[in-house]
Amino acid sequence: MFRFALGLQGIFQQATRSSLALCLYLLLQLCTSFLHAETLDLNQNWEYRWGDSPFQNGVPTWTLEPAPEAWKPIDFPSNPPGRDGREQVWYRTLIPDADWRDPVLYIFSVDLITEVYIDGQQIYHYGEFDAKGRGQFEGWPWHMITLPEDAAGKPIYFRVFSNYLDIGLWGEVKVMERTALYQRILEGSMHNLAIGAFSLIVALLCLLFAPFNRERLSLLSLALFSFSHAGLAISASQAKQLLFHNPLLWEYISAGCYYIMPVALALLLRSWYHERYPKLFNRLVALFGAYFIAALGLSLAGITSLANTYPPFDMLFAICVPSMLLVVARHWPHATRDQRLLLLATSIMTLLLLLDMAVAHSLLPWGQVPVGIGSLLFSLAVVVLSLNHFSRTQKALARLNATLEVRVAERTQALEELARREAQRVKALEFANLKRSMLDELVSEMESRADIEQALACLYRRTEDLCAPIPGALYKLNADEPLLPESQRWGDARDFPTNLDIEADTSLGNRHLMLRIQYDTPLEQRKLEAILLLDFNEESALVGELSRNTLQLLFTRAIERINLTLSKVALQQLLNRFSYEDALTELHNRRYLDQMLTHELARGERTQTEIALVICDIDHFKQLNDNYGHAAGDHVLQIVAQQLRQAFRSSDIICRYGGEEFVVVLPDTCLEDARVRAEQLRMGMAAKSIVIEGDRIGSVTLSAGVSSGRAGTIDADTLLQQADQALYRAKQSGRNRVLTAPDEGEDPDQRGAVVQT
Ligand code: GH3
Ligand code: MG
Ligand code: MG
Repeated sequence: MFRFALGLQGIFQQATRSSLALCLYLLLQLCTSFLHAETLDLNQNWEYRWGDSPFQNGVPTWTLEPAPEAWKPIDFPSNPPGRDGREQVWYRTLIPDADWRDPVLYIFSVDLITEVYIDGQQIYHYGEFDAKGRGQFEGWPWHMITLPEDAAGKPIYFRVFSNYLDIGLWGEVKVMERTALYQRILEGSMHNLAIGAFSLIVALLCLLFAPFNRERLSLLSLALFSFSHAGLAISASQAKQLLFHNPLLWEYISAGCYYIMPVALALLLRSWYHERYPKLFNRLVALFGAYFIAALGLSLAGITSLANTYPPFDMLFAICVPSMLLVVARHWPHATRDQRLLLLATSIMTLLLLLDMAVAHSLLPWGQVPVGIGSLLFSLAVVVLSLNHFSRTQKALARLNATLEVRVAERTQALEELARREAQRVKALEFANLKRSMLDELVSEMESRADIEQALACLYRRTEDLCAPIPGALYKLNADEPLLPESQRWGDARDFPTNLDIEADTSLGNRHLMLRIQYDTPLEQRKLEAILLLDFNEESALVGELSRNTLQLLFTRAIERINLTLSKVALQQLLNRFSYEDALTELHNRRYLDQMLTHELARGERTQTEIALVICDIDHFKQLNDNYGHAAGDHVLQIVAQQLRQAFRSSDIICRYGGEEFVVVLPDTCLEDARVRAEQLRMGMAAKSIVIEGDRIGSVTLSAGVSSGRAGTIDADTLLQQADQALYRAKQSGRNRVLTAPDEGEDPDQRGAVVQT
């Protein structure tokens, strides 16, 4: 639709250009045609005689007798005085004497019908006279009456009938050569024909543009206005008769165009001022519209003559149209440039029409009023207006185009930015995913470690991989150093100190990120282990592609998670310790023994070594409890534990087996060595004089059983069982002694040293 409208605009532009050229030509024609007036006016010797001539054998008798007393002189054969409602009149004059080759009589117009006689012979007639000498209006054509060769100097008679205002010949009456008349007609019509064609083009263009324009109504009324101008101009041209000779039809066209013109004008003004004068223009449209229909309808129906519809219309027009223009002229200061132009053209046109009317009603002497110029001016105004409109549209289109281009550029930029951010987001996500999976692995490895040292070792081993490609350094806490020494550095990390002062972290600037590797312990609160420094310099592979903030946030979160894992491992470690430790003596408990004994047996099997086991039991402990109280008993248990720690190596596993019984596992130890150590313990204990809160308890003795075996050949239960049997025997043999489990084939009683206190 839009392209169609643009195409039309192109055609319109071309049409208006050629129309302008045509206009110029027309104006030239108008100027020259008036200079070209070679005529022989029939303006003398005119006489008139009211009424109609009697006829004898078809010859009007008035044409045969001079009867000078019956004829009265008149300047021009039109509207003789004393009409008194009469509808028939005769005129006569003399054909001038000249040397004609093919002379014709030219009459501009006749009101309304006529017959022309020379020598009693009818040489021309226009309209049909009935028996009563009356007839019908048949239009107002121009007339070309062929004169007989011998017409010169003879009287010529005109029989005229008119029931119209005017009666007689009208305009000009001339004698001339036929060719001269044709030339005159053609020359005189050219400008009207051209104006008609031009107005027609304008009207068609207005009609074509109306559907695509916002001011549709005003364009439609312009179209109607231009159509009426075109009709008027063409029907006003005398050459129309040469196109086709139907004066009445031309008369209807002319009257129709004439009557519709105020309707178009009122419609146009209504489209501009309908808010200010909603009723006025509607009423004028209705009034002239009704007149148009009534005048043409009644004339076509034969109820009235078309000629008689002119005078009332002229009166209406003369009153209403100038008033209408005066009403809108009051708004001249507020009118747009286009409206002013059209109003001016319309006013000129109206003025010319009023002048034409005045001539038609004999208020002014006869003369051809250039109504066509009014039409031309009006059409020109429309063309100028359309060109203005076109150039405004072009400018608006250009502006729209420019805005569109800017918008497209903005949109493209926004899309590119979006795509760049999306790519960055994807890259950040990929990077974050990679690092997250590395972190997951590290965390699960750390969690599998039994203590914090192992977990930290894991972390330090993988820190570089985790941080790459961001360069950085690791500073591990060293109790002896006031500043943290650098322990590891990777990538192109710059401006890092060799020894890091934790207090001075603010001086690093936002390029560097300082992360604390630390964990919470239930007992010692927060414990700092190391500091990780990362360098997000612009040259780093990722900085610039991903924002520094995104990266810093990613690593901060990772270290937070690592710290949480460390805290978890620390807590786990503590819980483990509690589950394998006896709370009273702080020795390992029986669960620990069970696990460690199996572990040591397996290890011994690999190294092919012997393993020994000692079970010792406090003698008469129940009695001690009974005598000194349970708290004293507990205290004694702690003293025995202390003695055990002193008597055995740190590599030996010392456990509280239950109650007042203790088990010591001695890896890589033979039976004898184990017995010697157990003996030392027993002696140390027996020699100790115990005092608790002032109560002198004296010495406490122990009995012990020792067993041993080669790892791989003996299991945990057998080892324990044999030691327990040896202990049993020690108790049986009087307590405070150490016995060893018997070797195969040996007399059990011969085994082990027995020391009696
Ligand atoms: P024997 O010389 O035959 O070993 O005699 P005993 O009295 O030492 O042996 P018995 O098995 O009859 O008694 C063990 C006592 O150890 C009974 C119990 O009250 C006491 N006991 C067990 N565990 C604890 C403890 O944790 N604290 C205290 N104070 N006493 C304990
Ligand atoms: Mg016991
Ligand atoms: Mg006991």
